[in-house]
Amino acid sequence: MEDNLNTDLSILESHMDGMLGRVQANSRTFRRFQAFEMRLLNLNSLAELMRYVLADSKAFFDIDVVNFCLVDDKDEVNEYLESDGFILKNNPELRMLNNTELLQARFGYSLEPYLGPYTEDKCGEFFLHADKKPVSVALIPLNRRGKLMGALSLGSYQADRFVENMATDFVKHMASVVSICLENNLNFETLRRTSFIDTLTGVNNRRFLEQRLEEEVDRTQRNSDPLTCFFLDIDFFKAVNDTYGHQAGDQVLLSIATAVKEQLRNNDVLARYGGEEFVALLSNISNDKAQDIAERIRKTINDITVEFNRDKIQVTISIGVATYLPGAERTSTSQEIAENLVHNADKALYEAKHAGRNCVVSSGIFSEPESRVSNLK
Ligand code: GH3
Ligand code: MG
Ligand code: MG
Repeated sequence: MEDNLNTDLSILESHMDGMLGRVQANSRTFRRFQAFEMRLLNLNSLAELMRYVLADSKAFFDIDVVNFCLVDDKDEVNEYLESDGFILKNNPELRMLNNTELLQARFGYSLEPYLGPYTEDKCGEFFLHADKKPVSVALIPLNRRGKLMGALSLGSYQADRFVENMATDFVKHMASVVSICLENNLNFETLRRTSFIDTLTGVNNRRFLEQRLEEEVDRTQRNSDPLTCFFLDIDFFKAVNDTYGHQAGDQVLLSIATAVKEQLRNNDVLARYGGEEFVALLSNISNDKAQDIAERIRKTINDITVEFNRDKIQVTISIGVATYLPGAERTSTSQEIAENLVHNADKALYEAKHAGRNCVVSSGIFSEPESRVSNLK
């Protein structure tokens, strides 16, 4: 009788130990997940999110392989990532999908995660980049408001890390948090983009220009390179609207912006400054070379015919050019230099208008804004 009791007691104790061990393990996982979640919610860009999930989640969750699929049907996500320095070909763990077919085939309508053994037909597409294929996996669909955005694939070399019929609430919670962060960052990137683009012409807007101008001035000073500004204005544009209508005028604006952009290098900035005025920033070329480019742009526009309905419309543009070359000593702020650069180009444009339009005038090279230099004298 006493023997039986002792045996029961030791069985109970070992059960208790087992339970205690599981509670402690769960509580450790929970704390780790909380830390992971907090960090995830504080990331500021899509690139950071990708880096974090792909690199850091392994240590957090004690897993061996992490792959990520993202739906990118308009090739936008890739662009966002690249502009933040996250280059896809250097990060093969991230796979872009043109559509949701793969995700639909895997997760069906219920969008239930899959936990269990790795098999090539079920999981191969989700682990295209794994030096060694995992033994057990969790394939987690990411979706928001019924829209499939991608999948997170976690893999382990241990068979018992993810098993079928395992409770999935933890994995589902993780999917929700990653999905929310993904959606937030995607929305933010889209907003950031659209708030810097002029909707009519597709080139950058003035807000973008103002931000970039100072950055360009700073860069110019670091490298001691010249920075050139073009102020471009369509001649007698009011007459285009009056003769052909406002819609025709819009079409002309779009065609001119596109043609000017084509004449510039990829890293030059072109922005619609307002109405029928554009500003371009060209770095690291001499004032003479800049004048040649401006002349080439003027001629290109001179030779273009814009067709709208049955009308054939021809316009010309005038261009003012100004170049800033950093002096040996810095006496002005970036903002002052930026303002002066645009102002000088605008003054040159004014002269071009007075000289009869359809021409290029340069105000030459300046080093520091005059007013500021004379203040210091
Ligand atoms: P100038 O050669 O001196 O530059 O003459 P201009 O007629 O081009 O200049 P003005 O400033 O008198 O007129 C600019 C016109 O541009 C007036 C305005 O209606 C038109 N405009 C401004 N924004 C838009 C736009 O978004 N679409 C269209 N269609 N017209 C616009
Ligand atoms: Mg004009
Ligand atoms: Mg104007």
